[in-house]
Amino acid sequence: MKHFPLIMLTLFFIPFSAHAQNDVKITPLKNNIHMLVSPQGGNIVTSTGEDGTFIIDDQLGGRSEIIEAAVKSINDQDIKFILNTHYHFDHSGGNEFFGAKNALIVAHDNVRKRLSTRQFITYFKREMLPLSKAGLPTLTFAHDMTFHYNGSSINIIHIPAAHTDGDAVAHFTDENIIVAGDLIFNGMYPFIDIEHGGSVMGIIAGLDVLLTLADDKTVIVPGHGPLMNKSGLQTYRQTLATIAEHIKSAIKDGKTREQTIAAKPTQEFDATLGKGFIGPDAFVSFLYDDLSRI
Ligand SMILES: [Zn+2]
Repeated sequence: MKHFPLIMLTLFFIPFSAHAQNDVKITPLKNNIHMLVSPQGGNIVTSTGEDGTFIIDDQLGGRSEIIEAAVKSINDQDIKFILNTHYHFDHSGGNEFFGAKNALIVAHDNVRKRLSTRQFITYFKREMLPLSKAGLPTLTFAHDMTFHYNGSSINIIHIPAAHTDGDAVAHFTDENIIVAGDLIFNGMYPFIDIEHGGSVMGIIAGLDVLLTLADDKTVIVPGHGPLMNKSGLQTYRQTLATIAEHIKSAIKDGKTREQTIAAKPTQEFDATLGKGFIGPDAFVSFLYDDLSRI
């Protein structure tokens, strides 16, 4: 969800999309797998090759021609499959554009449910209207599934009640790459969509799953921010767990949300994580509401 102040800039760019793909930075990860990073919107991972193009997440609506041009600069084939790591508009905004071009969209069952109906994300004051049929996932799963594609085995694993209620991570087993979606915001406090089934304890449990899959050479692609390694993942997990513990004890001590925010339970991490689009107070507020429900 990292597009908010830049939406006007995005709109401004649309008429010039044929020349604007250079705002997408393409990083080779391994063999035929690449990461695409834009100034706004979520990260994208592509697998290209003899079977066709498979992309993980498709970014903000209105940027689809830019994204398509960037993907085709790696390999000129059409996009055959898209995995949505979750329903948010900065990861699924290209669904209708690419779906209309016959890409098959794959996602957790709850992503299809959410994209089929109106959603409102209070923190961003953002309405997501139901997508047309072309933008909806055609293939959905409850727990996990595996792609055997372009020579890779790609395990897709559902992480329950984490960033949302429909998160999926992707593990390229041979290439040792994990695509974490918004389970990880690298270098900033994460948005947690607690009104749509997310929870910090679910995120921590999901990060523990990723830690069992990772070794010291694993390349981890977060939903937002730069690449991470296992040691960064351990630190991120520990940071979230420490802050959650601080807030749990404040709740146990009967502190109000305002008192908890005023006590600055994130202070030791604010210099490194507090300058993103979710500030320390907002992050504490999410966690207070989330952990008050337990
Ligand atoms: Zn998200």
